[in-house]
Amino acid sequence: MAPTDTQLTPVPMLDVLGVPMLDVNRQNGPLQEELSAALAAVCASGAFVNGPAVKQFEEEMARYCGTRHAIGCASGSDALLLALMALGIGPGDEVIVPSFTFFATASSVTRLGATPVFTDIVPETFNVDPGDIARKITPRTKAIMPVHLFGQCANMGAINTLAREAGRIPVIEDAAQAIGAEFEHRRAGSLGRMGCFSFYPTKNLGGLGDGGLITTDNTELADKLRILRDHGQHPRYYHHEVGINSRLDALQAAALSVKLPRLDSYAAGRQKNAQAYAREFARTGLDSRIAIPTVKPGCASVWNQFTVRVRDGERDNLQKHLAERKIGAAVYYPVPLHLQKCFAFLGHHEGSLPVTELACREVLSLPIYECLTTDEQTQVIGAIAEYFGFAANRQAA
Ligand SMILES: *Cc1c(COP(=O)(O)O)cnc(C)c1O
Repeated sequence: MAPTDTQLTPVPMLDVLGVPMLDVNRQNGPLQEELSAALAAVCASGAFVNGPAVKQFEEEMARYCGTRHAIGCASGSDALLLALMALGIGPGDEVIVPSFTFFATASSVTRLGATPVFTDIVPETFNVDPGDIARKITPRTKAIMPVHLFGQCANMGAINTLAREAGRIPVIEDAAQAIGAEFEHRRAGSLGRMGCFSFYPTKNLGGLGDGGLITTDNTELADKLRILRDHGQHPRYYHHEVGINSRLDALQAAALSVKLPRLDSYAAGRQKNAQAYAREFARTGLDSRIAIPTVKPGCASVWNQFTVRVRDGERDNLQKHLAERKIGAAVYYPVPLHLQKCFAFLGHHEGSLPVTELACREVLSLPIYECLTTDEQTQVIGAIAEYFGFAANRQAA
């Protein structure tokens, strides 16, 4: 029997009674034709590794970030690893990193046999505390790796000053969550010696799989990074040092080139949603129970996450309440890196980074992506207000 329309599995409707934490299909859906054409062109070219699509995307990224060079690689984690490798970092060396970040920030250091030296954060932005960095610089410090967490740049002015005064210690930006973010009118990736990006699908510029990239103004480092990502060979089969296999696929580069011109409008959508949260939290009085994120003067956040602080030990119960209403909310990050089992050999103990540890108990990230509808955002705020027993009392504007 020939299939009829009624026998086809219906496309699931958007669940109107819930709000997903993130829905990549909403962003990619309208680009389907363009993405398919770009991928088909790469397939037809047969150039799957490096080649023109990668070169083009690297040039676009260098222009976007305001740097002389951009070097694609396989992931954000590899971007960090390659940046450290390019500086020759290894056993006996120390790299200063925050503990309140994604795992790869520190694992890139330990994978090279070097030691991550964890610093605390400032409570308002969740970004590294330059004062704590200053206390932790030693003669063995070979790099400082601030993270632009949740889409806002770390205090790069203070960090660069510290690094310069301590003997020009290289600063590597972990900009995986902050593509397009600005610090004093300069973009993430152009603020240190090297900037590391991720195109993991949940990042602001999300690919169709894994991808990463390193930006730098330094031509010598750029050349070195290109060799290191390709087994350390230059020319082919002549290895000067041991590199890794970490290249950006041409298919990813082509897809990312389709999305990059839209990135600023995506960020604007996230900024609009962040403002709406701030306005509604103030209007409903919820801001007495929940601290909303602060953006420092001179900074433009691209809001990879909208991460609030839930006071008085209510975080886990609030998250449960939201989950019951099918509202996505996530904890980034529940366990600080200095207390992870795999880093126990470093000898840290609870209480050594108090601001970080408190953040791990209080943070909750709410849906912020640009495709979030007003109705959905109202549901999120209403459910939070319901939890705290406030009347949402939202009036038509
Ligand atoms: C995502 C992320 C990374 C790693 O990027 P991948 O592409 O997933 O390897 C590194 N650092 C931070 C802060 C991240 O958010």
